[in-house]
Amino acid sequence: MADAGRKVIDCRLYPSDKNCSLAISGMEDEVLDAATHHAVTAHGHTDSPELREQLRSYLKDEGEQSASA
Ligand SMILES: [Zn+2]
Repeated sequence: MADAGRKVIDCRLYPSDKNCSLAISGMEDEVLDAATHHAVTAHGHTDSPELREQLRSYLKDEGEQSASA
């Protein structure tokens, strides 16, 4: 269970005016940092606690898709 706790965020779930298909996976803090950077640089958002909270709400457990079989 070394991968327990890995999270994934999929930009397709994130409201945006681009057809962005980026997905980022890793530990929660890593994903949040990368997703915040991506939201700022690629989507023109402003880095803020509110943005991070919003991004956090889009995190999914990475095992969700594969563990169901
Ligand atoms: Zn994106």
